[in-house]
Amino acid sequence: MKVLKIDHIGIAVKNLQESLDFYTEILGLNNTGIETIEEQKVKVAFLPCGDSELELLESTSPDGPIAKFIDKNGEGVQHIALKVDDIEGALDYLKEKGIRLIDEKPRYGAGGAKIAFLHPKATRGVLLELSERK
Ligand code: ZN
Repeated sequence: MKVLKIDHIGIAVKNLQESLDFYTEILGLNNTGIETIEEQKVKVAFLPCGDSELELLESTSPDGPIAKFIDKNGEGVQHIALKVDDIEGALDYLKEKGIRLIDEKPRYGAGGAKIAFLHPKATRGVLLELSERK
């Protein structure tokens, strides 16, 4: 498997619009669009930051993964995404190595990316996302 770069850092927020006000108006980043992904119960915004991006995630439901994360930890960094050149190949490789995965197969990610999460137990406590997008 080949990791190309840090694709983005995912930040769990309670209120996407208020968070965007800070990141765009104060920090001067650009929001490239808001997308709701119903099956994952999130609304996300991406803010390019040089060669990688920040991803702000707000839960669309009190029982979604982001709401649960905030209940437990408060707002903050929720995951780190690594860009890979071939996500299916990377998942096959990790399975072969016995690495615990949350997603055995890629699923749909914002902007049409293919994404998959590794289990934090396998990564020393970090929720790592693999992302392949053109
Ligand atoms: Zn992400």
